[in-house]
Amino acid sequence: MIADNIKLVREKIESKCAEIGRNSKEIKLIAVSKNFGPDDITAAFDSGITDFGENKAQELNSKFEVLGNKMTWHFIGHLQKNKVKFAIRSAEYIHSVDSLSLADEINKKAEQINKVQKILLQVKTSDEETKSGVENEDEIFSLVDSSNRLKNIELIGLMTIAPFTDNEEEIRKSFRYLRKLRDDLNTKGFKNINELSMGMTSDFEIAIEEGATMLRIGSAIFGQRDYSKN
Ligand SMILES: *Cc1c(COP(=O)(O)O)cnc(C)c1O
Repeated sequence: MIADNIKLVREKIESKCAEIGRNSKEIKLIAVSKNFGPDDITAAFDSGITDFGENKAQELNSKFEVLGNKMTWHFIGHLQKNKVKFAIRSAEYIHSVDSLSLADEINKKAEQINKVQKILLQVKTSDEETKSGVENEDEIFSLVDSSNRLKNIELIGLMTIAPFTDNEEEIRKSFRYLRKLRDDLNTKGFKNINELSMGMTSDFEIAIEEGATMLRIGSAIFGQRDYSKN
């Protein structure tokens, strides 16, 4: 079933790219495996998925211990400072940096293990109270500027979660805002901030239209999550 799901998701990505003239090779598909165990992850890996996303440091770690680094791990959830040292052991990318104090802590812990940690800044692009991320434009520019000075961090892009709505225009507005921020940063001389991590099961086709380079897709690949298991 996971293999069929992946095939279907890939087909949708391909056909959306063909429709709007994008090269699908510039889009990384991250399978969000939170709440699913090593067997399901292995099934996805065997179907050609190389990148997996997790939103809890402990869960990521325990899967990393079983599966290792044959796949690339992405940390996509809210990261508490006391969990940073676990996340950077296994995650090649941390998508959810939303403060300078967190960036500082990642830099410090990465330095201790001789790692340059790739990060994205999470931006709040809608007024939904539940969404985290940096929201004020000045704050974003200053966070980018400060992060760039940290030697054990490499800031490669921006991430957002669109509002939970079926209003397509609102979702699109949120993605468009992220892209504009990225372009503004490039114009201001921050040339290495290129990745746009946006688009989930319900909105990834809109995200592709708006320039996403990393899609975080969970339930379309693994099925509905059963939260009662935790
Ligand atoms: C769970 C999660 C996803 C994937 O959600 P689906 O709707 O299952 O595709 C993507 N991004 C983040 C940050 C998540 O927590």
